Amino acid sequence: MSCVFCRIVAREIPADILYEDEFVVGFRDINPVAPVHILVVPKAHVSRIDAPEVCDLKLGHHILCAIGTIARQEGLQEAGFRIVSNAGRDGGQTVGHLHFHILAGRRLVWPPG
Ligand code: AMP
Ligand code: ZN
Repeated sequence: MSCVFCRIVAREIPADILYEDEFVVGFRDINPVAPVHILVVPKAHVSRIDAPEVCDLKLGHHILCAIGTIARQEGLQEAGFRIVSNAGRDGGQTVGHLHFHILAGRRLVWPPG
């Protein structure tokens, strides 16, 4: 298995996992760009947000619920946070396994670069 996030889900490589349920895993980004930088990934290998399996597997529901749960768990509600899912070249996606970034802990600029 070559996908780095599949390997994290399978516990084949270490990660700072802070959330897990039947469908989703959340862990800290290895190269954080904010004081809080968490990645939320489906356990199933899905390439990106526009892959049809996202609908078939009802992953959107599970991932959105998990993001909210993690935000509450990590105490991000009061100051707020941002969700990003990069897709493809122009989106800046570097890992081909669907993931949502949760960014928090500093004032984030808009629009993003
Ligand atoms: P993206 O550029 O949107 O595809 O995001 C991929 C993210 O995965 C980047 O922020 C990387 O720092 C992060 N990343 C890559 N490998 C690992 C890893 N082994 N553990 C945790 N985060 C990782
Ligand atoms: Zn994968």
